Amino acid sequence: MTFQKIDGKKIASELRVNIKKQTERRIAHGLAKPGLAVILVGENPASEVYVRNKCNACEEVGFYSLSKTFPYGVTEQELLALIDELNNNSSIHGILVQLPLPEHINEEKIIEAIDPLKDVDGFHPYNIGRLALRMPILRPCTPKGIMTLLKSTGIPLEGKEAVVIGASNIVGRPVSLELLMARCTVTTCHSRTVDLAAHVKRADIIIAAVGIPGFVKGEWVKPGAVVIDVGINRLETGKLAGDVDYQAATKNASWITPVPGGVGPMTIASLLENTLQAAELQSD
Ligand code: NAD
Repeated sequence: MTFQKIDGKKIASELRVNIKKQTERRIAHGLAKPGLAVILVGENPASEVYVRNKCNACEEVGFYSLSKTFPYGVTEQELLALIDELNNNSSIHGILVQLPLPEHINEEKIIEAIDPLKDVDGFHPYNIGRLALRMPILRPCTPKGIMTLLKSTGIPLEGKEAVVIGASNIVGRPVSLELLMARCTVTTCHSRTVDLAAHVKRADIIIAAVGIPGFVKGEWVKPGAVVIDVGINRLETGKLAGDVDYQAATKNASWITPVPGGVGPMTIASLLENTLQAAELQSD
């Protein structure tokens, strides 16, 4: 079976060009620049890189962005006060709190404090609930990016057997809801799933979001299946690896995402899409 690579880097870059054009059109019509605020707590080098990348991406497409970094010991009240201020700031259309937060901060409480129309991560229960009810507004970024990648293959999704490995709030669960909305038959697997391989083997679409390098074996991939690898795992060698044994999986897959260069670039592109959408919602 010859496989085709799903080039997330190229698709994300096309999306960004498109977002830039739409932003220029907005500004030409006298509307505000879409504005994104990113909140970071503590000194986590990986999170600092993510925040910097998000702000740079905003600048590239002509958005306004600001980042606010708090020390690790920040109180919940201080964070809630900033979110309240940003909720009422008309030049900010999207608010993103970089996760994870320190243990003394209640993550749910912080996310729920964000105005749902500014919740560009799509993690607010309001936005997840709307997705579950098939009337999404702001959709979680990584799952949204995965759906864009699947659509780029041109394969009709309706009626397909989709198996999602991982049931986290940020990837596994929302992507399962997305696939259900696209009329797939969805199975969501997790750490307590019995005979995981049997589930994966019948899948037309495999979404791997486990966080274990090479977890999905090549022989689990049904001939012709589409494989989306969400995993980003840093190996001891310093190299990045996905959750799928890529070389082995390419022997059976019809389409497959590489790591890096697959889902990763789509997450930021979806965040930009959401920020533009939020700005449009708030201008209306
Ligand atoms: P998580 O740790 O929150 O969730 C992992 C899920 O995998 C859990 O539901 C768990 O039950 C399941 N799991 C663990 N061991 C399992 C096993 N043996 N069998 C079956 N299921 C098992 O992780 P997450 O935040 O969902 O992220 C998953 C991976 O995706 C990570 O590698 C992360 O870095 C990556 N990620 C990538 C992007 C991106 O932009 N590409 C975005 C988010 C996460």
